[in-house]
Amino acid sequence: MIRFENVTKTYRGSQKPGLSGVDFEVVRGDFVFLVGPSGSGKSTCLRLILREDAPSQGRVVVLGRDLTTLSNRKVPYFRRHVGAVFQDFRLLQSKTVFQNVAFTLQVTGASRGFIHQAVPEALELVGLAGKEKRMPNELSGGEQQRVAIARAIVNRPQVLLADEPTGNLDPATSIGIMQLLARINANGTTVLMATHEAGFVDQMQRRVIELAHGEIVRDEVHGGYGDTSQLPSLAPAKPKGAESIAALTAVLELQQRVAAGTADPSTALAYERLLATENATASGVTPDAAVTVPSAATTVPEPTAPEETAPVPDAEALAAANAAVAAMTGANAAAAVEAESAAEDAATPSAPPAAHDAPRASLTGPIEVDVPELPEVGVADRLGLGETDEDENVGPTS
Ligand code: ADP
Ligand code: MG
Repeated sequence: MIRFENVTKTYRGSQKPGLSGVDFEVVRGDFVFLVGPSGSGKSTCLRLILREDAPSQGRVVVLGRDLTTLSNRKVPYFRRHVGAVFQDFRLLQSKTVFQNVAFTLQVTGASRGFIHQAVPEALELVGLAGKEKRMPNELSGGEQQRVAIARAIVNRPQVLLADEPTGNLDPATSIGIMQLLARINANGTTVLMATHEAGFVDQMQRRVIELAHGEIVRDEVHGGYGDTSQLPSLAPAKPKGAESIAALTAVLELQQRVAAGTADPSTALAYERLLATENATASGVTPDAAVTVPSAATTVPEPTAPEETAPVPDAEALAAANAAVAAMTGANAAAAVEAESAAEDAATPSAPPAAHDAPRASLTGPIEVDVPELPEVGVADRLGLGETDEDENVGPTS
């Protein structure tokens, strides 16, 4: 399903390779943790699998395709089969929950009918039924990550990649996300998750591939996290501020409009400059992030969701993106993250917490994976088998 053959990745300008002679194979249905200290090559592995980057030597084969020979034209179609979620969620802030999840389907040309079936199903699967019309900033961090997961699985991918998906979340919320990923895996999706969360890795007892300095130092079928002495603490690091997240989403949104040809030429020009600024200044936000959304080879149809709000004028979007990038380069990102964390639980005061976000266990408590729930939910079956269900008014508890 995923095979690395003697893969070396050397980044331009660096002496030491990001990955060096890496060999491993992941079979269908596996749940694999990628662990190792910061800089050990976890994200590089995931980017190679997504074909956001290419190996300097060796081969990466995913779903039977040798990614070194896969043409750029086919990349968007390849990525339909590989979902991805990240530490910083990467939601489009000016779009509703529904629109965020629908977006990938729209850019790949899915029919309106399919979108209106698949999006509610994906949202129900992640526990967000009924929140279709919310904006991302009206959701807690855990809920935002659930939206990102719904977006990643709505295309029914065979592989789900998760790069430190709980890195911005508190421990109780993280457990809910972990359970959700385990359920998705139990439904047949192969999952690769890069993480620093030693507690999860120890408790899940799934396959663990440990990297150090770009090399595999351990590959265990039922592993634990291993040596935690290099971890600063079990509390997840929060290297990225709210501003950088806002900047990224603003840039992504502009990118889509430029790709769709709905941005005027001066906006397109300014967008190029913005990207250059971002790449030059935004340490911690990889330039590659901007190409996560298929753009060059696809046309972006006008959004068709009935919930669609009026489009933001170009100037306004550009100003927002510029402001966000400017803010991101400021020194106060860490403080902003703290403020965001404090505000997180207050974001949806009247809404009951999602079932899996309930703080029922600490990081050191058992991780309960409610696999038997799946048949009752029924959505996962439909996601996998494509059986139609016209009833979109399914409540969160059905
Ligand atoms: P991890 O995700 O485990 O923290 P990464 O895969 O991000 O590690 O990085 C592995 C190594 O490659 C590090 O030394 C990092 O500095 C380097 N690296 C990652 N991305 C880039 C890049 N875009 N340009 C140059 N070096 C990079
Ligand atoms: Mg990383």
